[in-house]
Amino acid sequence: MKPKHYHDEEALGKIYDRRLARRMFGYLKPYGTQVTIAILLLLTVAALQVAGPYLMKIGIDDYIAAGDWHGLRLLALVFVGVLLLQFVAAYAQAYVMNWTGQRIMYDLRMEIFGHFQRLQLSFFDKNPVGRLITRATTDVDVLNELFTSGVIKIFGDIFTLAGIVAAMLWINWKLALVSFAVIPLLVAATAVFKMKVRDAFRRVRTCIARINAFLQENVTGMAVVQVFGQKERQYEEFRRRNQDHRDAFLDSIFYYAVFYPVVNLIGALAVALILWYGGLQVMEGALTLGAVVAFIQYADRFYRPISDLSEKFGILQSAMASSERIFKLLDTQPSIEQDPQPYRPRQARGEIEFRNVTFAYKPGNPVLHDVSFKVSPGERVAIVGATGSGKSTIISLLSRFYEIEEGQILIDGVDVRQWDMGALRRQMAIVLQDVFLFSGTVEENIALWSSREHPAPDPKSLREAARQVHAEPFIEELEQGYQSRIAERGSSLSVGQRQLLAFARALARDPRVLILDEATSSIDTETELLIQDALDRLMQGRTSLVVAHRLSTIQTSDRIIVLHKGRIREAGTHQQLLAQKGLYHTLYQLQYKDQLKGAWASEGQDGEAISCLDRA
Ligand code: ATP
Ligand code: MG
Repeated sequence: MKPKHYHDEEALGKIYDRRLARRMFGYLKPYGTQVTIAILLLLTVAALQVAGPYLMKIGIDDYIAAGDWHGLRLLALVFVGVLLLQFVAAYAQAYVMNWTGQRIMYDLRMEIFGHFQRLQLSFFDKNPVGRLITRATTDVDVLNELFTSGVIKIFGDIFTLAGIVAAMLWINWKLALVSFAVIPLLVAATAVFKMKVRDAFRRVRTCIARINAFLQENVTGMAVVQVFGQKERQYEEFRRRNQDHRDAFLDSIFYYAVFYPVVNLIGALAVALILWYGGLQVMEGALTLGAVVAFIQYADRFYRPISDLSEKFGILQSAMASSERIFKLLDTQPSIEQDPQPYRPRQARGEIEFRNVTFAYKPGNPVLHDVSFKVSPGERVAIVGATGSGKSTIISLLSRFYEIEEGQILIDGVDVRQWDMGALRRQMAIVLQDVFLFSGTVEENIALWSSREHPAPDPKSLREAARQVHAEPFIEELEQGYQSRIAERGSSLSVGQRQLLAFARALARDPRVLILDEATSSIDTETELLIQDALDRLMQGRTSLVVAHRLSTIQTSDRIIVLHKGRIREAGTHQQLLAQKGLYHTLYQLQYKDQLKGAWASEGQDGEAISCLDRA
């Protein structure tokens, strides 16, 4: 269980990439007004920050020194006004920026999710779930941070710094130069810190990715872990990964813990310089006391943004990396394209044809070779074959989940590539090997296929569908019947129940073509009979292509196709194939005979079993 997929989480990349930045700021465009307001507010805050100490200087030099109480009172009022204004502007700025940030996150998440839905299935085969979820959650969060506290604040910081430098130089350029003397120290400290923290953060991110990958696998596979007594081993492995993460994080904390006191020290040094040199100047009468006080305050407001800048660079850097990953995802073109003038019939006849189809999941490693067969409208065809022979693959190709390399797949004589994708899939109801249920009510799951243009029939017909396929008895036993909530992935239902529900879903849709990939899990005879009867009703009057594992399904088919290692080896009815004494005969002897025996055995207790065998 080595983590394989976190390597791309490691790279932090450049601090600033113009191409990425331009694209990122594209997301700000719809919110131009808000962004402009936020920037104006930021400039206001910056200007007010510069104004504070200057007012202080005026107060000391012009009013206190001169004993002008009236002027001082007025100035105090102005000072309070400046503080209040600064508070309001900072609040409004934060609000507007977060408002915008949340909207950008919303837009971006919708775009990512919409893109997921357009991508072909092979993309999801290659990309682990955890990674894709990270794209839509953590990576989007990082970008949000960039917009709300990163870039825009850097802008404000730089403006504040420029204002302060100007004010200091204007008040007294000599003292200003003296207080700037510590800047090289600050720059050096920041550079060292940035380098160290970047390495530590890279390790933290890698460790988090490893923890996530491990958690995802273990939570999903908890049953296996417990059954195979792997709890201790996995616990130990998790402890190791968790420890790595803790240590890496502590390292980064260490650098922060050193850096901020160092910056404070440098700031204190600056204040000391100002006191010393400024004090001398005051004694010589070259400077006023108010100027020294203003300088001390400026120094404080000066060094804070500089030390913050390095943090902002960190945000910028991870935002660049996140945006790169998001854009890479968004740039993945769906490889299955819709025909510009698609075929979109009102009602299909339901004829299926494979013409010399060759297909590979991985290039050069075909799993289907030159497969040709035809299913006439209304015909029931079963596909049988050993595990891994390519049965489910045929089904995936039919609904165009993957693109084939050679040959043609035709529905009603029209190549699936010319079909309108929605129309194509609407003709078919597909029951996959492992039934997927969404969290929601039973009823919602039966009507899953409905959409705005194709609304679900009324609840009565949905129930009728459930009744037809014998799903109603178990549904009514649930606490709230059709309104019962199904747990995620349908884990609160048994495999057989899930299958019946999937049948109801298919029947309610009333398709021309029924595609069914039978579950391989064996079921008890009683359920088997229910399912068989349900299937019969389901296939009534439709074309059906069924990957069959159960003898009863196979025997009720009009025709059987025997697949072996991706090639069609035999085709015909049950009797014909048995008479051929070929592969089907062998399969029958090995596999299905036992099923037959099982059915015979239960015959004595279950009257209905006889009817099943009669049919056989
Ligand atoms: P079973 O009876 O066990 O369901 P199957 O006949 O349905 O088997 P398929 O699922 O069609 O078998 O698989 C055929 C071959 O293609 C197998 O060798 C399998 O390893 C491979 N395969 C299936 N799905 C993928 C995939 N998404 N990516 C790569 N290879 C795949
Ligand atoms: Mg299969």
